[in-house]
Amino acid sequence: MRVSDFMALALGHPEYGYYMTRDPMGRAGDFTTAPEVSQMYGELIGLWCILVWQQTGKPDPINLVELGPGRGTLMADALRAAQGAPEFVKAARLYLVETSPLLRSHQAETIGNMSLTPNWVGHVGDLPDGEALFIASEFFDALPVRQLVRTKSGWGERMIDSDGNEFGFVTGPADRVYDLLVPEPLRQAYTGDIFEFSPAAISTMSVVADNIAHHGGGALVLDYGHISSGLGDTLQAVRAHTYVDLLNAPGAADITAHVDFARLVRVAQGAGADTHGPIAQADFLRAVGIESRAESLRLKATTDQAADIDSALHRLLDIQEMGQLFKVLAVTGPRQAAPPGF
Ligand code: SAH
Repeated sequence: MRVSDFMALALGHPEYGYYMTRDPMGRAGDFTTAPEVSQMYGELIGLWCILVWQQTGKPDPINLVELGPGRGTLMADALRAAQGAPEFVKAARLYLVETSPLLRSHQAETIGNMSLTPNWVGHVGDLPDGEALFIASEFFDALPVRQLVRTKSGWGERMIDSDGNEFGFVTGPADRVYDLLVPEPLRQAYTGDIFEFSPAAISTMSVVADNIAHHGGGALVLDYGHISSGLGDTLQAVRAHTYVDLLNAPGAADITAHVDFARLVRVAQGAGADTHGPIAQADFLRAVGIESRAESLRLKATTDQAADIDSALHRLLDIQEMGQLFKVLAVTGPRQAAPPGF
């Protein structure tokens, strides 16, 4: 099967899929994400949404959409920060795009007593039309990728096969169709080189950008990945905070791939939306005021809490941590002002 089919099943199989059977986030889980590192992250994203809403003339209603909300932590922090803007809360309709029933129930718990009642959909295509603000934090990296391999006779597709006992990679026959899927500047590669692309990421961004181009609003994509499309195998599997063999225990480890931001930019612009960035997460968070937010939290903090704030800042901003590898891309409607942070 294609790598993308393997990844889709390993993550999303209704019975055995990774996201269907467990809550992977946090220290006891398999990986830690930015919203779980600090409340400041979700709060600043909430304020970003309010500012973009103000920039577009405070439309009422406005759809507030989060893709892949995990435990709901980011949205809970965003909504708490939005309490200072009751007009926004009154106008906002909350939509959560989530496939996992287990994580939906976590989100219901976390957001349950907040000011907005969540509506769940399984796919961006099921969202209602209208001006919207989209947030996607470590969502795009979970979307399945296909991998093409340069062979002596042209590009073929990297596939996963089984001998009945274990899985292994094989390369399907070369075909000119694959050549066309590889961007022209990358086509003349060395034998064995890999080109990745995510049909699901492309179609998700196209739905989001199309909505923004027609109705206005904005999207904020925060994820790890590369700024220009390139060659290379970026698939990785993580279990209990350690890298593991991708093929070894499908459904038991998280599988992700680097987000190709250049591709998302081309898709968004192709749909008629404007793009801003991608910029490094550290630059974005500093520009929207994470340091002054940390300062005001420190004023009320115990010594232990102050140490936690400092370590969270380090984790989110340091170039050895999430500061540089993680990027932030914004999408807005044409003729809108540049969004905060860019
Ligand atoms: N944003 C959260 C969670 C990131 S994990 C955080 O940063 O902590 C990825 C999230 O996307 C999970 O909630 C997962 O269930 C969801 N997800 C993965 N693939 C999806 C898909 N194809 N459609 C909808 N949600 C998906």
